[in-house]
Amino acid sequence: MMPETGSFLGFSSAQRQRLAEMSMHGAALEGTFATAAERDGAFEELHGRLAGENVERLRVLRDEVRRPLIRRLESRLVETLTALGFVEVTTPILMGKGALEKVGLGPRHPLWRQVYWVDQTRCLRPMLAPNLYYLLSHLQRLWPLPVRIFEVGPCFRKESKGASHLSEFTMLNLVELGPEGDAAERLEEIARLVVRPLGLEYQLQPKESEVYGATVDLEMDGLEVASGVAGPHPLDENWRIADPWAGWGLGLERLAMASERSPQIRRFGRSLMYLDGARLNLQAGKQAERKGEEG
Ligand code: ATP
Ligand code: MG
Repeated sequence: MMPETGSFLGFSSAQRQRLAEMSMHGAALEGTFATAAERDGAFEELHGRLAGENVERLRVLRDEVRRPLIRRLESRLVETLTALGFVEVTTPILMGKGALEKVGLGPRHPLWRQVYWVDQTRCLRPMLAPNLYYLLSHLQRLWPLPVRIFEVGPCFRKESKGASHLSEFTMLNLVELGPEGDAAERLEEIARLVVRPLGLEYQLQPKESEVYGATVDLEMDGLEVASGVAGPHPLDENWRIADPWAGWGLGLERLAMASERSPQIRRFGRSLMYLDGARLNLQAGKQAERKGEEG
């Protein structure tokens, strides 16, 4: 138990939670106070400032930008990709069991437990890759190489709640089949071409993936924002694909987190609590304040 007086008194857990919901993070949550009254005063002041920032954020949304950050990021990425020759595709959100099996996703796979089934044979897609593979299997016969396609859209995974995981999130998946040079070099080049216009710093880290084996992660400040793979890959033969390829799967909510330097993905996902990163129930501070008084 925290003492109610003395130099160790911190924000109550209800106050801390409330400040975190209002986008406060890091050292500011760790204040220590001599008395409960001093602490509650500091909470009220902080909460008032954060509420003001949220109101301003909502004003900018209404009066200026009109679209949430995540959708604006998406538009910029789509512009960059189409300018690079990538063609946008839209494939079904309901995915057959067979499509998952073709990327090696069966009952023994770690991702299997995370799949939302809508009936015996169909699920909400946990990834876009099987659909893009399918389209490539046709397009490789219809278009000259390189074939470049991408899709942006919802994906679903049962996640045990964490600050950087959502059960429904937005994936941007791009793939270039038959790149002119080395596929691994092209993978890095595409990352540069796509991320540079956003003005965000990133690092590339080699990683082992459950589906693909050797992959590379694109990280921003230690947060995985995208995973990339250079083929050929043993899965390719399921779609009779034999050429090299380079592909990235990027999480748009993660990109929004990174661009806002926020540790909370919930602010940027599909939500009824937040609108474009701003908390909507701005009156709730009073409740947390009362809980602070309770202990
Ligand atoms: P993590 O290891 O962080 O759980 P992952 O490696 O399983 O992610 P991938 O399959 O590589 O995820 O998916 C590509 C991208 O999609 C990730 O880099 C991330 O940006 C995003 N992503 C994956 N799962 C989620 C999720 N549950 N919520 C939000 N974004 C996600
Ligand atoms: Mg990954």
